[in-house]
Amino acid sequence: MPSRVVWIHPEAPPKPELGAPCNGCGLCCLSEPCPIGVLVSRRTTGPCTALEWTSTSSRYECGMLTHPTRHLGLPGVKRLSPTSLLNRLLRRWVTRMIAAGIGCDAELSASVSTSQPDSPSPSSKDNR
Ligand code: SF4
Ligand code: SF4
Repeated sequence: MPSRVVWIHPEAPPKPELGAPCNGCGLCCLSEPCPIGVLVSRRTTGPCTALEWTSTSSRYECGMLTHPTRHLGLPGVKRLSPTSLLNRLLRRWVTRMIAAGIGCDAELSASVSTSQPDSPSPSSKDNR
């Protein structure tokens, strides 16, 4: 798989082993959107627009599970309550589609860099 740079919250937990419980590291959804993410992000590459950082638990969450209608791009349903019937139905469907709860299925490895792409510093390679 080609390497790519993703911007990740500094407090995000490290990616667990394949098959371990998902810890919300966010790496998979920041790398590329899943099939549901392609629909809501309207793109096949880059971070999913439905991914949300949750500071209270210091983890990423799928916005299509927490509050689906907020990410559909449809003004008429954007403000529906997360517990509305439509959101509950969407959440159930998305849970099945993304196989939520089965553990980490992302075959990715990550290394951390503190360098900025537009302002490389002489020591930036030492930080990878
Ligand atoms: S599925 Fe894996 S890579 Fe994706 S957020 Fe969960 S732990 Fe991270
Ligand atoms: S829809 Fe949810 S699970 Fe899929 S890429 Fe987006 S944030 Fe991740």
